[in-house]
Amino acid sequence: MSLKISQNVNLAEYTSWLVGGNADNFCLPKTLDDLKEAISFAKDKNLKITILGGGTNVLVSDDGIEGLTICLRRLSKISSFEKDGRLHIEALSGTAKSELLKTFLKQKLAPALFLAGLPGDVGGGVVMNAGVAEAFVPREFMDFVDWVEVLTLDLQTIRLQKNQLNVKYRHTDGWQPHIIVNVGMSWPLENDPTILDKVRETNKIRLSKQPLDMPSCGSVFKNPEGHKAAQLIDSTGLKGYRVGDAQVSLKHANFIVNLEKATAKNIWDVITHVQKTVEKEKGVKLTTEVVKLGRW
Ligand SMILES: Cc1cc2nc3c(=O)[nH]c(=O)nc-3n(C[C@H](O)[C@H](O)[C@H](O)COP(=O)(O)OP(=O)(O)OC[C@H]3O[C@@H](n4cnc5c(N)ncnc54)[C@H](O)[C@@H]3O)c2cc1C
Repeated sequence: MSLKISQNVNLAEYTSWLVGGNADNFCLPKTLDDLKEAISFAKDKNLKITILGGGTNVLVSDDGIEGLTICLRRLSKISSFEKDGRLHIEALSGTAKSELLKTFLKQKLAPALFLAGLPGDVGGGVVMNAGVAEAFVPREFMDFVDWVEVLTLDLQTIRLQKNQLNVKYRHTDGWQPHIIVNVGMSWPLENDPTILDKVRETNKIRLSKQPLDMPSCGSVFKNPEGHKAAQLIDSTGLKGYRVGDAQVSLKHANFIVNLEKATAKNIWDVITHVQKTVEKEKGVKLTTEVVKLGRW
């Protein structure tokens, strides 16, 4: 067996919130064969599998994750070619979105602007259908995805076309219960000579509006229909609300930051307090964008 599977690995360093307990079993596959080994290991021992991409939209329990946690960030490879007036890109799911940005940027294509400052991996981008508030085109990750390849628990690879998936606001369904391993994307070769300036400007705006110097998972809550979650939270006076070292950001009300030693429980307590307060004072239910993983 060439894949290393370790026990009791602390997951905090694999999440952008820098919180969470240990994975009972943990591995970082670099190839599809490694990933197949990991799945076989879990099947032999009857372990539940949990997938971690870039860890930028998850809240891992302080009590850790049971079974086998597979972190895909080393399953990374990107290639591209031009055909029929479009740039086609194929990326393994652990490829960082920043690598994808560079590939679009080389050709001065619009998805580079959408990807500016968007963390995490390509697979996480598909699952979360990551999106931005600005009226960019494209504006959601799935806008430029053509197909995904999944690896089943029987170690079969299946290609699913986009029309076989159910694409929603901040979530894509239809690929479960498998693991997304490869993603095919494309965009018309319509070159925008000003794209690099626009990417720089977008990064500047993000830096001025978001607490990027502190650990967070980006926006915690989805925008309820007809509302902006950040505005609802701000108008209930919750900016700065704190439990332990978890705090509603003073800069952006939809971010919860880890001031230093926050626990996952601290963050969850802030989340539930925000939900209760906004529902009581504004009559609007906030649901989380962030995904809870592990023993809750
Ligand atoms: C500073 C900051 C800014 C952010 N800004 C934005 C923003 O503007 N817009 C936005 O939409 N999001 C934003 N986010 C949230 C996050 O970056 C995105 O949702 C991102 O797409 C998540 O990707 P990830 O690889 O980190 O996924 P993870 O957080 O690792 O995983 C998310 C979910 O996907 C599952 N998963 C991941 N990869 C796979 C796979 N290959 N197969 C099956 N399941 C998988 C995981 O099990 C988990 O349930 C921000 C986060 C931060 C920290």
